[in-house]
Amino acid sequence: MSSSSLAPRPLTSPPASRHVAVIGAGAAGLAAARELRREGHRVVVFERSAAVGGTWIYNPSAESDALGLDPLREVVHSSLYDSLRTNLPRECMGFLDYPFSSRRSRAGGDPRRFPGHREVLCYLQDFAREFDLYGLVRFRTEVALMERNNDGRWQVNSRRSGVAGGDGDDENEVFDGVIVCNGHYTEPRIADIPGMDGWSGKQMHSHNYRVPEPFLDQVVVIIGNSNSAVDISRDIAKFAKEVHVSDRSLTDDLPRKQPGYDNMWLHSAVASTHKDGMVVFKDGFSIHVDVIIHCTGYKYHFPFLKTKNIVTVDDNRVGPLYKHIFAPFLAPSLAFIGIPWKVVPFPMFELQSKWVAGVLSGRIALPTTEEMLEDVKSWYLEVEAVGWPKRYTHNLSNIQFEYDNWLAEQCGCPSVEDWRKLMYVATKKNKRAHPESYRDEWDDDHLILQAEEDFQNLQN
Ligand code: FAD
Repeated sequence: MSSSSLAPRPLTSPPASRHVAVIGAGAAGLAAARELRREGHRVVVFERSAAVGGTWIYNPSAESDALGLDPLREVVHSSLYDSLRTNLPRECMGFLDYPFSSRRSRAGGDPRRFPGHREVLCYLQDFAREFDLYGLVRFRTEVALMERNNDGRWQVNSRRSGVAGGDGDDENEVFDGVIVCNGHYTEPRIADIPGMDGWSGKQMHSHNYRVPEPFLDQVVVIIGNSNSAVDISRDIAKFAKEVHVSDRSLTDDLPRKQPGYDNMWLHSAVASTHKDGMVVFKDGFSIHVDVIIHCTGYKYHFPFLKTKNIVTVDDNRVGPLYKHIFAPFLAPSLAFIGIPWKVVPFPMFELQSKWVAGVLSGRIALPTTEEMLEDVKSWYLEVEAVGWPKRYTHNLSNIQFEYDNWLAEQCGCPSVEDWRKLMYVATKKNKRAHPESYRDEWDDDHLILQAEEDFQNLQN
């Protein structure tokens, strides 16, 4: 990473206690609330739903607009499908000092190494209870607007929904700092496919996929081939007549029957779609299709945040953000937790939150605005140099542990454990080689032992 040489600067004045608003009580907001309070700040967490857990609160209902394009639709926050199991092993996935060990799984829980989504929600609820975070959260309270005052503090306008779903109360408050933790897996991104506007079949985004039964005997095309696409295609193949997965990065040797399935094929990109329901792939294959499911990712979306264009979202680049967290011109009073993707999220949330909490109190110093902007600029150049589009700006797949350790160094914390990195790499390799079975068969038991030993030491 370009500016790892920017060492933390010691400050002379005592740490200040700030009045801080956190938007969202998912894993990021909970980590932020804990670290901010630990640093001595006064924290209010705004959460529009009635519970903590964010993404991990499964909602069997989908949105009225299956593609998620209608701006007036009633938004369903979570993108979980019923069968979802974690794609990271639990030892690796959990917070650094609050292990997500199978030993913690309560009676009736799901002790599997890659548990179902309900187990993750229980873990987050336990985390909130253990660190006494519930009292900080204002449930059913949506932040509608956040704007900086002339004095540099933030005006936060929130609306509490009525218990019976009716209109509630509006409230305006002023905070020294605001931490955005609203998640980024709710606003669908749709691929641009020729002829799609006139195509006669049904279309939906993976955000609105829940269960496979409605796809009985149908011909389904899945656009995309990353995590959700891999899971959903296999879920649906149990019921559908045929499943055709389109991976735009593939060109050779296609279409290819998927091992272990007699009704699933892998294709290159979709070339065109037609009024009569036909879908034509670039590999030359064409078929009449009932449903297209877009597993094409999500957009960063901050409808409540007004910064007079100081922070913008441009082709999914949120910026400028120093270290994906602080907006240089608004630092440190505005911070984002959880922007990077292709990472192990919970430990990263924890380290980002520690850093933000320390910077807000003045215990840890930021570089100058110019230095921060220079750092952002050099990161953009690195992104460009590897040929990535803007929308990959926050993809930290190549440097996530370096990034985590940079944050840890700023905060004076130990680096991320070696076993966690090795486990991440081993899982990635196993998943690529065995997409059907990686959650149940692995060969890194020695790393589990190391993890459990560390967890034991934490308790002592
Ligand atoms: P969220 O969990 O989305 O929480 C955001 C919260 O903000 C929500 O509670 C929401 O209600 C609230 N909110 C939003 N706007 C407002 C507002 N205006 N006012 C008040 N409240 C608001 N990660 C893993 O580690 N392992 C996995 O196996 C894994 N699998 C995943 C599978 C899927 C399908 C998806 C979508 C994600 C997966 N992730 C996984 C990533 C997951 O998103 C993160 O683990 C993490 O839960 C994100 O936490 P968050 O707090 O950033 O966002």
